[in-house]
Amino acid sequence: MSDTRPSLTTRLLPELALFPNEQQRQLALSAARKDVFKKPGRLLTALAWLIGVSVVVGVAAALLQRLFGMRAAWLAGVIAGPAGSVGSIVVGNLIFRVPIQRHLREQLNALNVHVCLHCGYQLKGNTSGRCPECGRDIESA
Ligand SMILES: [Zn+2]
Repeated sequence: MSDTRPSLTTRLLPELALFPNEQQRQLALSAARKDVFKKPGRLLTALAWLIGVSVVVGVAAALLQRLFGMRAAWLAGVIAGPAGSVGSIVVGNLIFRVPIQRHLREQLNALNVHVCLHCGYQLKGNTSGRCPECGRDIESA
């Protein structure tokens, strides 16, 4: 317990903090990762995204260079770099982080740590059948 600073992983996946101990945390994370990464569709989608962005940026830069000269192509690169990074973070979240979070929430519910499967809100003592945070019905795990 010397280092209690949250790691990047626990910041990205706040569900991890809710597991009763470190061993269960590690087991749950590796189970969630295995489950999410073993689906080939996700990796293909990520790969298709990377290739698609590269093609679009390449074609746009070539067109701009043809129409407006080198300076426009350089400008396209300056804009495409950050835009591609932001897009990749969003797509990476949707393809990998969201399903991993869902998996972790299901595991928490199986351990009787009740959280909302949609938003991760802790539902301890909640009897309404509805999440007070996101307002959705509470699914039973
Ligand atoms: Zn919720």
